[in-house]
Amino acid sequence: MTMNNNKFTTPEEDQIIEAAFQDVLDGYLASNHRKKVEIIKRAYKFAQEAHSGIRRRSGEPYILHPIAVAKIASQEIGLGSTSICAALLHDVVEDTDYTVEDIEQHFGPKIAQLVAGLTKISGGIFGDKASIQAENFRKLLLTMSEDIRVVLIKMADRLHNMRTLGSMAPNKQYKIAGETLYIYAPLAHRLGLFAIKTELEDLSFKYEHPDAYARITKQIADSECCRSSVYKDFSTPITQRLKEMGLKFEAKARVKSVYSIWNKMETKHIPFEEVYDLYAMRIIFECDDPGREKALCWEIYSAITDLYRLHPDRTRDWISVPKANGYQALHLTVMGPDGNWIEVQIRSRRMDEIAEKGFAAHWKYKIGDSDEESELNAWLHTIKDILDNPEPNAIDFLDTLKLNLFSREIVVFTPKGELITLPKDASVLDVAFSLHSHIGCHCIAGKVNHKLVPLNQKLKSGDQVEVLTSQSQTPKPEWMSFLATAKAKTALRQALRREQQPAINRGKEIFAKFLEEYAISDSNDVITKAMGIYEAANRDQLYYMLGNGDILLTDAIAKKLKRQGQNKERSLFSKIIFRIPGMKSSTETEETPQLQPNTPINMKETYLLTYDDKGANFKFSGCCCPIPGDEVIGFVDDNNEVTIHVLDCPRALAMKASYGPRIVSTRWAEVQGKFLARVHIEGIDRFGILQELTQLISNHLNIDIRRLNIEAHDEVFDADLSVLIEDAAVVNDLCNKIKQVDGVTKATRV
Ligand code: MN
Repeated sequence: MTMNNNKFTTPEEDQIIEAAFQDVLDGYLASNHRKKVEIIKRAYKFAQEAHSGIRRRSGEPYILHPIAVAKIASQEIGLGSTSICAALLHDVVEDTDYTVEDIEQHFGPKIAQLVAGLTKISGGIFGDKASIQAENFRKLLLTMSEDIRVVLIKMADRLHNMRTLGSMAPNKQYKIAGETLYIYAPLAHRLGLFAIKTELEDLSFKYEHPDAYARITKQIADSECCRSSVYKDFSTPITQRLKEMGLKFEAKARVKSVYSIWNKMETKHIPFEEVYDLYAMRIIFECDDPGREKALCWEIYSAITDLYRLHPDRTRDWISVPKANGYQALHLTVMGPDGNWIEVQIRSRRMDEIAEKGFAAHWKYKIGDSDEESELNAWLHTIKDILDNPEPNAIDFLDTLKLNLFSREIVVFTPKGELITLPKDASVLDVAFSLHSHIGCHCIAGKVNHKLVPLNQKLKSGDQVEVLTSQSQTPKPEWMSFLATAKAKTALRQALRREQQPAINRGKEIFAKFLEEYAISDSNDVITKAMGIYEAANRDQLYYMLGNGDILLTDAIAKKLKRQGQNKERSLFSKIIFRIPGMKSSTETEETPQLQPNTPINMKETYLLTYDDKGANFKFSGCCCPIPGDEVIGFVDDNNEVTIHVLDCPRALAMKASYGPRIVSTRWAEVQGKFLARVHIEGIDRFGILQELTQLISNHLNIDIRRLNIEAHDEVFDADLSVLIEDAAVVNDLCNKIKQVDGVTKATRV
């Protein structure tokens, strides 16, 4: 590196830096923000001085990074001078001796606040521990709900880091790419920053799967010429027709991103050639009169369907009901000239800008309190709700929030016609909780399109949903399994904790006394060991069981707890071995043949699944989370590892279709105890019968309900109940008890 007298950069570098900054200024001046150039120039000088002498890993002067972040914030997100200044200064407090107070003194409180926010959430979201990770994520979102610009600038920072990731050490590349895909891309999606989301995904993918990335990129390039001729054949008649209609518009082919092509190939298990929706046609029309936008969209729609055959199920009207992130457009899918389906997206210029730039564009077009605005606010409020009640369990908290970021949406109606936006797979109970946590906790059933349905009924877009409550209903832990919204899950967890608190406190006391009595010193190890012995998932559960009298502390337990260095905690559901039928029981594991990754699997054999703490040559699929009693199926991969799915899991269905030879047949070992039983109930409908039934089954008999489907027509009802039980006698007992309920005419095991 050449150094001039008291300078750290070469004249060539100075030129590059000046040009880069000028580019930021030019872009800003061309936007329709107020022209506050002076403060931007000052922020630039300040940052330049603060970072002088520092270089990035790539060797370039550090100041080029904040300049690039400012450019993204301004030109790709559309933010104004305050954010540009904050972007220029975003690493000053973090990396130099200047403090937030210094920034405030020079640039005022607003910019200082943004820089403070950016400093707080600097560094990786993932620490070494999940709790740190969750804590950082919490900070990020907390600052976001205070001033959304912090997160937008953070996005710009992350995007530039991803664009220049090549010069990072490989292990860092992997970590940053993973984090980007895990949190930042979904967050960008939520904020409506579609272009940035796509780029973040593609860049992460490029570093996480370099080979697949290169392959798909090449395949796209190779098929380009054939694709463009198909596109031309397809689009020409449309553009001609639109011109005849006197419209001013722009039409372009949108190629699917590398990442989403790969995603589709992976989830659908299809080769590149079979990804038919490789490209879409996008029509962006000019329209000065906001009142005409919607009508024009449908006129264009009608012109296209005159030319091509419409796919009946794939019209998406995001104009009447915009997505929660503000996205508006009219999508339709038609049959192209080569017989493949092609999606056409129709948007006005305004909608297009909102789709590409998200939040910032919203502000630009904001006229009073529009609906889209309130949808966004509603989402931010949910985030704030969750943040105000942090979970004691960091992982739960993170999952809850991620759930809120990733979910696809459906829209349902209240009986009064109000709209509720929910994630896909939301249930009646989610609606109840979305109205109020009190309503959620007392919900007994729902009515969907005027038909009585159970709490766990999944909803579809357009459903009209009414919630039925009863004061005697109490929140149940098993509800967690069918809730899809973060809000509901958080509220339920709180309610359950509130309900269990007295028992937990009692249990804690009992445990402390017990330790005292046997002179066992209280330590984390002892508690962990106790949790292992009783198979409790966490401390609270252990205390709860103790406080409730479900488990007792005995001399034998005291001995076990006293013994040192033995019986490492046994996590029940963590590891599993395959056992061939007819082999010895679980206590004699030495003689049990375990499938090691190198032992080929015999496809003709049925393998028994048992829970055990030895061997781990397969895993449970995260999509359907099989449990004992579920019908299960395994798939062997190239590494001879087996993934277990529930038989009717959609993913398993897809795999069965394309990966037939890889199926391994599996079933649960009976040693495991619980199995699934189905009971059919018939009766005469009366007010409250549903609640009585559910209460009888879940509370009174302490049975694990897996599914309850109730259908009522006129005055009679039909119910199908699936329960997990230890043996058939319990089912018979259950049937007898159900028959005693007033109104029930029949209860039989199927
Ligand atoms: Mn930075």
